[in-house]
Amino acid sequence: MATAVLAVQGAFAEHEAKLAELGETCVELRQAADLTQPFDRLVLPGGESTTQGKLLDELGMLEPLRERIAGGMPVLATCAGLILLASRLDAHDDKGTPRLGTMDVLVRRNAYGRQLGSFHTELELAGAGIVPATFIRAPFVMETGAGVQTLATCDGNVVAVRQGNQLGLAFHPELDDSPRIHELFLSL
Ligand code: GLN
Repeated sequence: MATAVLAVQGAFAEHEAKLAELGETCVELRQAADLTQPFDRLVLPGGESTTQGKLLDELGMLEPLRERIAGGMPVLATCAGLILLASRLDAHDDKGTPRLGTMDVLVRRNAYGRQLGSFHTELELAGAGIVPATFIRAPFVMETGAGVQTLATCDGNVVAVRQGNQLGLAFHPELDDSPRIHELFLSL
């Protein structure tokens, strides 16, 4: 089948290129009508989570996507995507902006500070080995619920998590050379 990439805002083209390299067909989700295309996976790219959440809500895509994720569809969420998946945001971040909220984690937006929040490193991610990791005004995970597995930490902060079919990363695997994380996603 195909992977649907949310394409209302942010770094969606880079995910599509990465998935194409692995032989995966992608469809873009720009409006509710796009949800009728056949797809069995979902990518939520980085970008600006407040803009993405508002657009998903206005376009009537929030509830249908929430249902499909809750129904077990594999999802790869990076950076702003992780914020969209989070069931809880740190109090000073939570302006009530619409989110999917399907993952039992507490996330802090711009957790490294707005200016110093961009850096490149390597980290060990369970199931993928050592991977390059580019952080851009990144969030991190402050609390994980019972069903959530920590896949990677960076300087003691949780930056990659999995809850069943949902994979959430604070960084941008679509911007680096390694295919490992997209391979992991396609294996879910
Ligand atoms: N800081 C952004 C937000 O809060 C996320 C940044 C990113 O996706 N690279 O939505």
